[in-house]
Amino acid sequence: MSNAYERNHRRDIGESTGPALVGVINAGSSSLKFTFYEGDRPILSGQVDGIGVRPSARATGADGVALDPPYLGQTPSAAPAEALPALIEWAKRKLGDRRLEALGHRVVHGGLRYSQPQRVTPALLAELESLIPLAPLHEPHNIAPIRTALALRPDLPQVACFDTAFHRSMPEVAQAFALPRALYDEGVRRYGFHGLSYEYIASVLPDRAPEIADGRVVVAHLGNGCSLCGLRGRKSVASTMGFTALDGVPMGTRCGDLDAGVVLYLIQQKGMAVEDVADLLYRRSGMLGLSGLSSDFRDLLASESPHARFAVDVFCYRVAGYIGSLAAALGGLDGIIFTAGVGENAAQVRAAVCRACRWLGLELDEAANRLHGPRISAAGSGVAAYVIPTDENLMIARHARALLGSAGTSSASAGDL
Ligand code: ADP
Repeated sequence: MSNAYERNHRRDIGESTGPALVGVINAGSSSLKFTFYEGDRPILSGQVDGIGVRPSARATGADGVALDPPYLGQTPSAAPAEALPALIEWAKRKLGDRRLEALGHRVVHGGLRYSQPQRVTPALLAELESLIPLAPLHEPHNIAPIRTALALRPDLPQVACFDTAFHRSMPEVAQAFALPRALYDEGVRRYGFHGLSYEYIASVLPDRAPEIADGRVVVAHLGNGCSLCGLRGRKSVASTMGFTALDGVPMGTRCGDLDAGVVLYLIQQKGMAVEDVADLLYRRSGMLGLSGLSSDFRDLLASESPHARFAVDVFCYRVAGYIGSLAAALGGLDGIIFTAGVGENAAQVRAAVCRACRWLGLELDEAANRLHGPRISAAGSGVAAYVIPTDENLMIARHARALLGSAGTSSASAGDL
């Protein structure tokens, strides 16, 4: 990006006065999601998908009204961070005289060191660069927009919020692979991800599910990416995701846990290149690989195909199996929370998982489940079950405000919390 470009755009990132906003950026390998918050209220949000291939953008204003999305120019951006200047220019026009107080970013990996969000400094950025080998598919895309925004507005506070941070409370036995100790010491461990989602759920549990809030709870974050987390006293004690976001339950296109011998077989016996194995495990497995049809549960649940049915059955079997495993880590189970796209919307999946957890004392209320709860366990069930929508972006906005010491949240806009 040229200096002239930066000079021209500096005034475009909320240097005006007016109500203070926090912007949240969640950049992936081909998408960039954003939300601008006034207090806890999202007043502008949207996403750019298909970056590098066929970018398309959509946006909504306060109260979910659809807006004309940002124009991304005629030359498609090669990477999500390249869409940021156009997005900011567009947001500035939409936000009028409101003042941007800070940007919060979702960053997948905080390594061993970070159990809390951090204010962005050049030293922090250098440290995050050093974590790229731990998350090569995600971390570079998370860091790039931080650098872009830093170049455009060096004075604008930025906060990095890590998906691993919430899990730093896991005991060491839950972090260890049975590999030589030296690898553990150099950081080859189970870290766990989706921490911002679990932290949000933990923050609302006293309000939404008070009778189990401080007990032994499994949260099932089932979206495109899927994992489960064991909470005791609202702290993470175990996660189904490990060293990378490939572990645990099967996902849209990721395989979930896999006998490491399969990877050796693919390389040694089938002669697959390492990049091809990575592509297979990350992009061609999971629901897509099993069904041969789609990675999207809406397609699978609507399909007559026996392979689609089988994919969903495998998924529910593995989720239920992990709930049993996490119950063992927790020393018992008081409740299960379903969240994220599949967990919040797919009643059939929740029903199959809950029926498989009957042995734990869970009795499903089928009618409540069809209505998406929020409570979906029957009266008198030994284990409670709830559907609670997650909100990772709001968690990031709150962290940014808290770290910068701003009161920020007005009672008028505090929403449902
Ligand atoms: P991400 O991990 O990208 O944030 P989401 O949490 O939005 O993903 O979950 C996306 C997935 O949720 C979709 O791929 C789809 O499988 C599933 N999903 C969304 N809505 C429904 C629905 N009504 N019924 C079943 N599955 C749904």
